[in-house]
Amino acid sequence: MGRDTEVLVIGGGSTGCGVARDLARRGLAVTLVERGNLTHGTTGRMHGLLHSGGRYAVADRTSARECIAENRILREIAGHCVEETGGLFVDRGDAGGYFEEKLAGCRDAGIPTTVLSGREAREREPALAADVERAIAVPDAAIDPFRLCVANARDATAHGARIETWTEVVDVLREGEEVIGVEVRHESGPGSRVHGRSGSLERITAEYVVNATGPWAGQLAAMADLEVGVRPSKGAMAITNVREVDTVVNACRPKGDADILVPHETTAILGTTDVEVDDPDDYPEEGWEIDLLIEELSKLVPALADARIIRSFWGVRPLYEPPGRGTEDPTDVTRQFFLLDHADRDGVDGMATIVGGKLTTYRLMAERIADHVCAELGVDTSASTAEEPLPGSEEPAALEAEMDRFGLRSPVARRSRQRLGSRSREVLDVDDPNPVVCECEAVTRAELRDAIEDAGSDLNAVRIRTRASMGNCQGGFCARGMAAELHPRYDEPTVRAALDELLEERWRGQRHALWGMGLSQAALNYALGAATMNRDGDPAAADGSIEFDDFDAGQRRPDGGGRQ
Ligand SMILES: Cc1cc2nc3c(=O)[nH]c(=O)nc-3n(C[C@H](O)[C@H](O)[C@H](O)COP(=O)(O)OP(=O)(O)OC[C@H]3O[C@@H](n4cnc5c(N)ncnc54)[C@H](O)[C@@H]3O)c2cc1C
Repeated sequence: MGRDTEVLVIGGGSTGCGVARDLARRGLAVTLVERGNLTHGTTGRMHGLLHSGGRYAVADRTSARECIAENRILREIAGHCVEETGGLFVDRGDAGGYFEEKLAGCRDAGIPTTVLSGREAREREPALAADVERAIAVPDAAIDPFRLCVANARDATAHGARIETWTEVVDVLREGEEVIGVEVRHESGPGSRVHGRSGSLERITAEYVVNATGPWAGQLAAMADLEVGVRPSKGAMAITNVREVDTVVNACRPKGDADILVPHETTAILGTTDVEVDDPDDYPEEGWEIDLLIEELSKLVPALADARIIRSFWGVRPLYEPPGRGTEDPTDVTRQFFLLDHADRDGVDGMATIVGGKLTTYRLMAERIADHVCAELGVDTSASTAEEPLPGSEEPAALEAEMDRFGLRSPVARRSRQRLGSRSREVLDVDDPNPVVCECEAVTRAELRDAIEDAGSDLNAVRIRTRASMGNCQGGFCARGMAAELHPRYDEPTVRAALDELLEERWRGQRHALWGMGLSQAALNYALGAATMNRDGDPAAADGSIEFDDFDAGQRRPDGGGRQ
């Protein structure tokens, strides 16, 4: 082939990972580069809803049809990433004719629906407000974006793909009217396995380049002197410490902020807002958005008014609309995806951009662009991604029987199995003791070690693979234990840097929810870090006047004896 790789995919979100998997399975040589971790962009900052399409059934029927088709496929191929929660569009008496419009739209898009009375809706989801008068039940579900991306990347690698995280494209290489590759800079993220190459530049030539950089697609295209008019739109979300609902709850109204609550593992996620921003890297994270989420959603689920919020976060939608449409309100911009063939569109060969869409439609987006790349390269193949289960989702029926073998008691066993799917045996069948390291999320040492094997020393990459540090304590108790698992494979500076990055990332989401129990937890985490690791830089600790032994052995008896 004469170039370093056949296809170079830029972006390690759901789209890029899906493209790498699809093309690698078709036998092409694929390299994926991502400037941070996998899921570093929007994919790691989304709501966790596997759309039934119900949300788009009235205003965006094409998206609705794509969503229900992919919803069915993902339940089959990604069972260990999906939780069958079901969803409700609830009417508190203010939906009017929109309720019937929603119903008709769902039916037209092929989305199965059941109309429920208020009482029936509350039987399904007891947390619903007493004034809910009726509801439409749809097959919404919850999906774990981290597990999904990692599983795609894992399958791509198993089929020969090279996946490079902490590798940023800094230039797109052109020869005349053809893109021939990219220049990348290897960063020194804690998970980067290229410490020796930190900051180094590399040219990677490719037969074809796929721009799957989501909201950054415009910036990336500009490196090739091309224009892609992405319309980034930020959305805020907040996470409760317990699972306030077991069903996805949507307000049945035309559009607006703060209208959906999604159960996610041990938590529930409130969302969202829709505010157009200029720069996907630089936007305000505003407290009013979190207040609004709690105020509006507690009308549907009253318990939210007193719920403990453990963190809040923001993501940026990679919305796109073809030139000329000029939709004013970002909530009206279509959620469809677009394949921009730069040869057709701009007269520049060798590169295409895939932008827009949803996480729910990532597989379809990947299939479309993989078909396009294969046509360009003259490769006659077709996708297998709709039929072939992702790693972890094979043999779902065999899972139950396996769990007793590992000496894990429920609910730890249940949680491990949910996360690992059919990889449970491979990961948990260890000879050494296997204690729980993260108690909030029930993550054992074996699971952490498996993630470290896959992700290197980047504890945020370990976090997205296992959920360790994502529960109530937000790393206050378990972050140290996670860091300890890196030793002795990694040296002390690497372990410290990894712990710092993990704690910083945890703090980023906590700092907007500092009231009530969330504030107490943050204060406790601070005190724990200060007292046990001198993270507050207390000079008294540095000069030796703090007795660290006391923390390890308990308070000493006056006679110098052991633990009291
Ligand atoms: C608030 C919010 C809630 C959402 N909720 C849902 C939901 O519940 N269900 C659903 O289906 N969809 C949801 N979405 C939409 C969904 O998250 C996105 O459509 C999807 O994750 C986009 O994936 P992507 O791979 O295209 O982009 P991204 O995930 O952003 O991936 C692009 C990647 O490219 C990388 N990158 C950028 N520049 C470079 C460079 N120069 N070099 C190397 N790498 C680079 C970035 O770091 C990033 O990781 C939501 C979106 C938002 C914002």
